[in-house]
Amino acid sequence: MELACLDLEGVLIPEIWIAFAEKTGIEELKATTRDIPDYDVLMKQRLRILDEHGYGLPAIQEVIGELDPIPGAKEFLDWLRTKYQVVILSDTFYEFAMPLMAKLGFPALLCHKLEVNEEGRITNYLLRQRDPKRQSVRAFQLLNYRVVAAGDSYNDTTMLKQAEAGILFKSPQNVIDEFPQFPAVHEYEELKAEFIKASLVHN
Ligand SMILES: [Mg+2]
Repeated sequence: MELACLDLEGVLIPEIWIAFAEKTGIEELKATTRDIPDYDVLMKQRLRILDEHGYGLPAIQEVIGELDPIPGAKEFLDWLRTKYQVVILSDTFYEFAMPLMAKLGFPALLCHKLEVNEEGRITNYLLRQRDPKRQSVRAFQLLNYRVVAAGDSYNDTTMLKQAEAGILFKSPQNVIDEFPQFPAVHEYEELKAEFIKASLVHN
């Protein structure tokens, strides 16, 4: 049995924080896991900046509601779901992702949760577990699934290593150079070909 695990931001949808930063003009919010690999450091910085600027969840959700998946993402995902059972593994939060998951046909999503107070201020975030993408792949393997995973950034690399096959998709050059063991592709048609190549069933 084979299962595909996909990263979300940078692979199927734009980087939510970058989109929010562009909309609001808050440059500091453009930092992602591509810039700061330690997710906890990155998130504490984001929440501090949001607070300083008085932004709560409703303002963020308004921006996210205007975003669309990357062109071709929905078609790619629909194709992949005919070949593999697909689970999206993301370091985003359910509160952010849902408007975009609707546009992707609500695939299974494992991610994190926010704590929000009555005024809509984000007070904290709850990480599901440490190293969640790799732990998810491990758990699927314990269920006797063979896992093929694809992602774009540092926070995907432990997942790619844990999987039976890992693929870098739309990664920046520094990630590609640092992890030469993974094939690196940039277009959905190429990603389809890698998923076929990595499969023991479909080639
Ligand atoms: Mg990503």
